[in-house]
Amino acid sequence: MKLRCPICGKPLDKINRSAVCENRHSFDYAKQGYVNLLIRQSVDHGDNKAMVQARTNFLHSGSYDFLRNTICDMIQKEPCDTLADLGCGEGYYTSSFPVREKYGFDMSKEALKYAARTDHSTHYAVASIFHLPLPDASMDACVTCFAPFADAEIQRVLKPGGRFIFVSPAPYHLFEMKQALYEHPYENIVEPLDTTMELLDERIITQKFTADHNTLMALFEMTPYVHRTKKEDIERLAQKESMEITASFVVRVYRR
Ligand SMILES: [Zn+2]
Repeated sequence: MKLRCPICGKPLDKINRSAVCENRHSFDYAKQGYVNLLIRQSVDHGDNKAMVQARTNFLHSGSYDFLRNTICDMIQKEPCDTLADLGCGEGYYTSSFPVREKYGFDMSKEALKYAARTDHSTHYAVASIFHLPLPDASMDACVTCFAPFADAEIQRVLKPGGRFIFVSPAPYHLFEMKQALYEHPYENIVEPLDTTMELLDERIITQKFTADHNTLMALFEMTPYVHRTKKEDIERLAQKESMEITASFVVRVYRR
């Protein structure tokens, strides 16, 4: 295990149900199996239980499996022994990555409870992706799927030549849902990443799926639109029995 103490930076060893460094800083493992490496956490950050539940329900419908398969294919293109998933959520993608030693970081305890309970192949820790509890140049690959881009930390923890995979929404991602919600739906804007890493590959992958009423509402709950949509507009969506929806992602691969 490569996790580092967030206070002094020394290696952590798992002793009984704690992660402990040589300076006797100690961090408890939750019963689900993740460890909390945030030094102070006055309020619970990250996604709450309802959001985690909605996302888990939606992802289990299989509509984003093609994205998961694409990321796995990209990882396997080169030898990859160590990987960190930054903003791993409930581990839907992380759990399937074909890597011997992998780490998943997120600010949401609720998401990590689910991740650690269902996936024993990954070290899960509560940590900020902008302050990773990992040594320099220790990872063959980093992945960020629908989370902010932490350039400096990614370049710090990647080995020289290591790869970074970044997934974000493509212009027409969930466009039919936006058409149902808004009078003037807009396309997502894809910005180039501001980084010194070399872009190796960039592609848009798209697949349509049919969402039944429950899947549709679960999907809506996990989008940012849930915070900025008027009640009467949500009503319009809630009346749909089912809808054909475009899932479309930009997948980019960089080399440190
Ligand atoms: Zn320490």
